[in-house]
Amino acid sequence: MSGPTSRPRILIAGGGAGGLTAALALIERGYPVTIYEQASELRELGAGVQIGPNGARVLIELGLGAALDEVVCEAAGKEARIWNTGETFPLFDLGADCIARFGAPYWTAHRRDLQRVLAEAVERRRPGTIRLGARAVGVTQHQAGVRLRLADGEEVEGDALIGADGVHSAIREALFGRGPAEFTGLMAWRGLVPMDSLPPHLRRPVGTNWMGPGSHVVTYPVRRGELLNFVGVVERDDWRVESWTERGTREECAADFAGWHPDVHTIIRAVETPFKWALLGRPPMTQWAEGRVCLLGDACHPTLPFLAQGANMAIEDGLVIARCLDAEPGDPAAAFRRFERARMERTARVVRGSADNTKRFHNALLADPTAAADYIRREMAPEKLRTRYDWAYEYDARAASV
Ligand SMILES: Cc1cc2nc3c(=O)[nH]c(=O)nc-3n(C[C@H](O)[C@H](O)[C@H](O)COP(=O)(O)OP(=O)(O)OC[C@H]3O[C@@H](n4cnc5c(N)ncnc54)[C@H](O)[C@@H]3O)c2cc1C
Repeated sequence: MSGPTSRPRILIAGGGAGGLTAALALIERGYPVTIYEQASELRELGAGVQIGPNGARVLIELGLGAALDEVVCEAAGKEARIWNTGETFPLFDLGADCIARFGAPYWTAHRRDLQRVLAEAVERRRPGTIRLGARAVGVTQHQAGVRLRLADGEEVEGDALIGADGVHSAIREALFGRGPAEFTGLMAWRGLVPMDSLPPHLRRPVGTNWMGPGSHVVTYPVRRGELLNFVGVVERDDWRVESWTERGTREECAADFAGWHPDVHTIIRAVETPFKWALLGRPPMTQWAEGRVCLLGDACHPTLPFLAQGANMAIEDGLVIARCLDAEPGDPAAAFRRFERARMERTARVVRGSADNTKRFHNALLADPTAAADYIRREMAPEKLRTRYDWAYEYDARAASV
């Protein structure tokens, strides 16, 4: 830090939802920030992301409401369907009711659109912030700062480092030496479908959660409704690669959903490129920060995606870590301890809630159509959904105590 009133220089490893949101929130507060992103171009691939009102509230606070409105969808509602009969159960309203209850919209987005809007805002407000093709491989600290080591041998100095480098975090490894994330036994098929290739009844602006014994399928519209996002989760232990770009075939995907309703197969046949993604987990960490270095997002609390809250947590983290740095001027280590205290319990609750939903969405009772209908009416009853989701949507990262 150059003087008592100047803001510390913050280095961020990773330009995903968490790193970009943190950068934007810090730039707004006057911090000099640089993001070191390993990819040579920012190009999240072929998949969607649901942004609940808790995440949307942060993005709107950061001035991205209008830019996101141009590219997201506001699905009217969410419904459950039984895997083989297709029987449908309305779950909740994601439109006007969401805004009335939580004061912010429920968006569904193409990941690339979200990343582009975030990155453009960062570069507009502080040109040159994002350095691409810069892979972080290690960090050391000294009394007055941190030194981040990049794969090409370059070393950069800063006052503090945020490790926002995802589930395989090199910064976590450098701090805590933990082993690799564990495979959960679940694999996700992911892909996008041009909406105009689907019959009219599958083009409705709703999110659908197909539930079956041992598997489930989630679909929702993205990019103003031009594309349908498809995620099919199966219990498989023969696929361990976690990547956005590992391709499978439509035939292999269809085989994983043999016996499922024709609507599911209509969607699978229309998926442009089916990607395979092993779902990884990690026992909850009890420490995210060490001195002037702190993790956020999937680097410290990776979660199964079954509450659709992982990216939302990373987005909330981004704003809260900036607020914590502001609350401890000139003392990043104290700010990071504050961040851990503010965020650990909430993110652990998301991890637990997501794991609980695996059992719920894949329950053995779903095998029999009558038992399945009773089960869905019981498990997905409005009051149970409110208990499971409202606490996540109500949280306000702008005002939560830090
Ligand atoms: C199937 C599936 C569906 C999901 N659906 C949802 C959803 O609907 N809603 C939701 O909220 N969440 C969802 N998630 C979770 C969400 O994708 C993650 O929680 C979120 O992406 C985490 O953001 P992050 O910024 O922490 O990490 P990431 O998005 O993983 O970003 C990390 C960034 O760091 C870069 N990086 C990695 N290593 C290095 C390094 N050594 N040096 C420099 N850069 C590095 C990466 O290239 C990447 O750009 C889903 C996840 C899956 C698998």
